[in-house]
Amino acid sequence: MNFLEERIVKDGIVKEGNILKVDSFLNHQMDIDLFNQMGEEFKRRFEGKPINKILTIEASGIGIACIVASHFHVPVVFAKKSQSINIDGDVYVAEVESFTHKCKNQVIVSKKFLDENDHVLIIDDFLANGCALQGLLSIVAQAGGTVEGIGIAVEKGFQQGGRIIRNFGYQLESLAIVEGMDAANGTVQFREQ
Ligand code: 5GP
Repeated sequence: MNFLEERIVKDGIVKEGNILKVDSFLNHQMDIDLFNQMGEEFKRRFEGKPINKILTIEASGIGIACIVASHFHVPVVFAKKSQSINIDGDVYVAEVESFTHKCKNQVIVSKKFLDENDHVLIIDDFLANGCALQGLLSIVAQAGGTVEGIGIAVEKGFQQGGRIIRNFGYQLESLAIVEGMDAANGTVQFREQ
């Protein structure tokens, strides 16, 4: 087991409905030493790629993305959830369905902060059905930028997102891939990587 898998076993909580709660170290209270280890690991896995920007989505991706960015020495842009209509045409817009909240959100990124010169590393905390990622991929495509890779903390390997995104041909690196969870006894199985 790697450092993140060990931490999930120690502090993750398996909920009914295939939900893994990691809010004591990942997406509510945040363990910055752990995030730094994740940053080092993503730096190693995406070595040699001309990454000049990190893109994530509000809210829980932001903390991880910021610490990862400090390893790449590049800025972070986060897609904002927005209700307002894009009248001026000055933002890229994507529709994202939330797995945990079962609702649809529009996310936006200002055209000022992403364009065809950008080589983007997408970072997020979870990958489940891939809706959040597909929204971010659409935003980079609208900008004419290049996706150099995707770094995820926890992928739920039994949901379809990872397969879909890898089939598109992207380098998708998940630090922990959960293959199964059992809420009754609180156990988590990981994919061998
Ligand atoms: P997707 O868009 O890939 O279906 O889901 C990704 C988003 O759903 C993540 O950003 C995360 O907020 C949320 N999510 C999906 N599954 C889980 C889970 O098991 N636990 C937690 N904490 N969040 C999840």
